[in-house]
Amino acid sequence: MHHAYLFSGPTGVGKYTTALSFAASLNCLERSGEVLEDACGRCTACKRIEAGQHPDVLEIAPSGNFIKIDQIRAIQKAALSPPYEARYRAVIIDQAHAMTEEGANALLKTLEEPSARTLLFLITDQPHRLLDTIISRCQRLRFGALSDEEVARALPDVLEAPVDEALLKVAAGYGEGSLGRAYEVLESGMLEQREELLEAFLAVPADRANQWLETAERFGRGNSDLEAQLDVLIVYFRDLMLAGRADRGRVINADLMATIDKGVERFSLDATLRILDTLTEARGRLKRNVNAQLIVEGVLDQIRQPS
Ligand SMILES: [Zn+2]
Repeated sequence: MHHAYLFSGPTGVGKYTTALSFAASLNCLERSGEVLEDACGRCTACKRIEAGQHPDVLEIAPSGNFIKIDQIRAIQKAALSPPYEARYRAVIIDQAHAMTEEGANALLKTLEEPSARTLLFLITDQPHRLLDTIISRCQRLRFGALSDEEVARALPDVLEAPVDEALLKVAAGYGEGSLGRAYEVLESGMLEQREELLEAFLAVPADRANQWLETAERFGRGNSDLEAQLDVLIVYFRDLMLAGRADRGRVINADLMATIDKGVERFSLDATLRILDTLTEARGRLKRNVNAQLIVEGVLDQIRQPS
């Protein structure tokens, strides 16, 4: 075992879950800990780790936009003493790239003088934002995107209620290789509303900007709902591109072919590309908290231009 691991890769592919499983298999009371085996999942150690209540598993995440120096100092202090009861203390630093420079330098000291029974897991989807000196002191494992089939197969395990297979496939397509994203989009309920939402937006007349906003509000308020709506539109226009080029097998909204065919007839490839650009940019601006009304008006301007 290495004393520090860096798990990098896209969000929602299992980096955090792997770190937690690692901590559990090291400390499972049913296992010796000498050889790495799957944790039992039933003993008190396993259960407390899963519930986030084990005193020797420290989970650090940004508070606000940053991981603050005090949080790193708490890690340093813990690493100086042996674990309370576990064989190994596990420190999981989620979104490790959010450490301040001061924090990163403080963590370097801990990485340079590791304690024998403390393991660090640094987790990030933006490894380029970590100091080289931190990266070089960790054992790095790269996590890749999952295939749509893998996402569709894993989804039922994390969902509370069963979902039919066609919808699982659609969610996997929306997830773009991330189980976490596919899960979120399913939970948002937006997938069930896709057809209604698309029909409503596409029916807004060219000269009624306000109606677009009203439509947006009908399907939810707030930036996260608007983001989900933009996702639906983005995937739809991407589907138009594929369907228009006879690549129908790769369409994500495979259950909405009638709505897709309508769009292919209405929008030229040129218009489709232009709208797709606008929508993608709008989603980026929404993430940066630009005023929703401005975003919506920008998108509408593109959609209502004659194709
Ligand atoms: Zn166990």
